Amino acid sequence: MRLRRIMGALALSFGIFAAQGAQAWCLFSCTQAKTKYPIVLAHGMSGFDELFGIIDYWYGIPGELRDHGASVYVTTVSQFNSTELRGEQLIDQIETIVAVTGKPKVNLIGHSHGGLDVRYVAAVRPDLVASVTSIGSPHKGADLADWLAANVTSGGFGSAVISALGNSLGSVLAFLTGHSNPQDAIAALGSLTAAGTAAFNASYPAGVPATSCGEGAFAVNGIRYYSWSGTGLLTNALDIGDPLLGITSLFYDQANDGLVDRCSSHLGDVIRDNYFMNHVDEINHVLGLVSIFESNPKTVFRNHANRLKNAGL
Ligand code: CA
Repeated sequence: MRLRRIMGALALSFGIFAAQGAQAWCLFSCTQAKTKYPIVLAHGMSGFDELFGIIDYWYGIPGELRDHGASVYVTTVSQFNSTELRGEQLIDQIETIVAVTGKPKVNLIGHSHGGLDVRYVAAVRPDLVASVTSIGSPHKGADLADWLAANVTSGGFGSAVISALGNSLGSVLAFLTGHSNPQDAIAALGSLTAAGTAAFNASYPAGVPATSCGEGAFAVNGIRYYSWSGTGLLTNALDIGDPLLGITSLFYDQANDGLVDRCSSHLGDVIRDNYFMNHVDEINHVLGLVSIFESNPKTVFRNHANRLKNAGL
């Protein structure tokens, strides 16, 4: 009985330990990523926080940041849905993170569609946000979304196919990861077209460049804005995702990461827009298969955490 109580106490301690994202151990650069406010990672379309407990959307990235002193939280929203709905879901989770950590705000980092979600949060609940960082996010639309939108008609065959594919994939991922969020692939697509993002930018302009390929405001209402992205496509011969991104890249006129072009990714302070990374390399996928001739994505994240720390965030 006593043993069971001890085991229970140990499990509880470990749970809190894990939830707080504390360092397991550290030999050097132990506080390099130790930001003042927690880091919150917000996934993109068809994202998942954890699949089978093995494959993380942010592959190896939370661990890398925690090993260097950061407090890291990974959020989950509808895999396919509008930016506004996903943003509202995100706000609920950030309120919990703020309550749990006792820190008044967080550093938001979003990949792909997640980069738009975090902008929505910063606009609606600026009190919760210290900084916004987007990675490979289509702030001025994704050409593939426009092509899909132009080639499907509402309720038509194409639309039904896209919706079925999107909703079924989203539902499967939601089921596997233990969440059940409303799915709406068409709403997601609409959020990522040039027209959809233009409407979103008109309502939530903070950090968006005024010119077609410039930088945006580095700070708006006390919130810092950053972005980075890649223009690599076939970066690792072993990665089964690379040929697919090579095909989707054909929809784009400008240098792109397979789904988002270089200029569309710009938000606030553009750290870099031409890493030799494709859209999934940016989150260290598939399974860490990235270019060995480029900075490792985990290093890029760790350096960014250090940038936030040095900015007092
Ligand atoms: Ca890859």
